[in-house]
Amino acid sequence: MKLEKIPAEYQQALPVLRKLTEAGHEAYFVGGSVRDVLLNHPIHDVDIATSAFPEEIKQIFPKTIDVGIEHGTVLVLEESGQYEITTFRTESSYQDFRRPEHVEFVRSLKEDLKRRDFTINAFALREDGEIIDLFHGLKDLKQHVLRAVGNPHERFSEDALRMIRGLRFVSQLGFTLDEETFVAIKENNQLLGEISVERIHIEFVKLLLGDYRNKGISAFISSRCFEYCPGLAGKSQELLALLRLSEKTISYESQAWVLLLDQLNASETDIRDFLKKWKCSNEMIKTVQAVFYALQIRKQKEFSAELLYQLGEQQALLAEELLPFYGGEANLTKVHNDYQALPIHSLKDLAVDGNDLMNDLDKKPGPWLKEQLTCLESAVVCRQVANKKEDLLYMAEKKQMNSAQ
Ligand code: ATP
Ligand code: MG
Repeated sequence: MKLEKIPAEYQQALPVLRKLTEAGHEAYFVGGSVRDVLLNHPIHDVDIATSAFPEEIKQIFPKTIDVGIEHGTVLVLEESGQYEITTFRTESSYQDFRRPEHVEFVRSLKEDLKRRDFTINAFALREDGEIIDLFHGLKDLKQHVLRAVGNPHERFSEDALRMIRGLRFVSQLGFTLDEETFVAIKENNQLLGEISVERIHIEFVKLLLGDYRNKGISAFISSRCFEYCPGLAGKSQELLALLRLSEKTISYESQAWVLLLDQLNASETDIRDFLKKWKCSNEMIKTVQAVFYALQIRKQKEFSAELLYQLGEQQALLAEELLPFYGGEANLTKVHNDYQALPIHSLKDLAVDGNDLMNDLDKKPGPWLKEQLTCLESAVVCRQVANKKEDLLYMAEKKQMNSAQ
C-alpha cells in the first residue's frame, strides 16, 4: 500500500531519509507515528530506522548527538528539526523478563520489525510513501485488533512490559486484543512483577488517560494484570467501580490518580503510601493529596474562600473538573471568578508583614509572629477584616491584649 499524501511532519524529515538512502543505506519512518498516520491521528514523534550503523550515520550528518549510542540511537540536528535515527537492531539474551541485556545492530529491516511489540506498531514507511507491512498490521488496523508480532508467549516473556503496553493501546485506540494475544497476557501476567515500576507507571497512566478508558480497564481486570501492579492486588471490585464513573476522558495524570484512589476508598494517609509504591514524584503526591481532599469537600458543597485560597486556582480547577465523573456539573468559570475575587492570593499580598507587627507590638521575633500572620491572613481571606495596614495592626493589637489576659 502506498500513502497518497505524506503528512507535513514526514515531508519535513524526508531530506534526512534521502541523505541516508543516497549514501546507499536503507531508511524508513517507523514506530507509533506510522500507525498514527494510518489512523489519521496527529503525530508526535517521528522515529527513523536505518541500516546504517551509528558511525556511518555520524559520517553523513555534520551535527549529531549520541543520545543512546549503545542502543543505536543518534540524534541528528538538521535545519528542519531534530530526528532520532536508530540503527536496525535485534534484541538478544533477555534477562529476567526485562529489556534485553544488549542489542545487536543488523542490516535487515525485517529483523528490526520482528522485535516490535504489536503488528500495528511494526510498519515501516519508505520515502516514496510505500508502507512496508510484514506482519499484516494493515489488516489488524482495519479490524481494530491488537496482535503481538510473532508468538505472544515468547514476546511477553522477553519483555513483560509489552502486556501493559497492549492494555494501554486498548485504552487509547479502542482496539480489541486478539484472542491468542489476550490469553498470553493472562497466562504471563505474573511477569509484570519482575519489571521496574517506573516502566509500568508510564504505560498505566496512559491507560488511565485513554479515550477508551473503560475498555482498557476492563482488559486490565479480566487479564488480572492488576494483581501484579503496586497497591492493586486483590482490588478487582474497586477497579470495577472505576467503570461506573462517567465515560469522560481524564485530562491529567493527577486527576487519574485521584479518581483511582477515590474508588479504592483510600484515606488521606493511604495516598502517600500508594503513590510512593508507584514511584510518583513528591510534587505529584502533593497535588494528588490536595485535589483528593478538595474533591471530597466539593462533592458535598461549594468551595469556601479559605479552601480556594489554600488550594490555589489550579488545584481547585483540577478538583472541579472531576465532578462530571460522578454525574455532577463542573463550573470552571465560577471557580476562576471566585478565586480571582479573593482579597489576597498569598501572604505576600497581606498589607502587613513580620516587621510591621514586630515594630507595632514592640516584640522580638518568635513563634507568636507566624501565629499572628496566619490569623490575619485567614481573617482577610474570610473578609472579617479589610486588607488595610491600620485595620490589621489594630486586630493584631487586640489579639495580643486578649492573649496577655
Ligand atoms: P506513542 O504514540 O505513545 O509514542 P509508540 O507506539 O510510538 O506510542 P513508543 O514507546 O514511542 O510507543 O515506542 C516506539 C515504537 O518502538 C513502538 O511503536 C514499537 O514499535 C517499539 N516498541 C516500544 N516499546 C517496545 C517494547 N517494549 N517491545 C517491543 N517494541 C517496542
Ligand atoms: Mg512514540
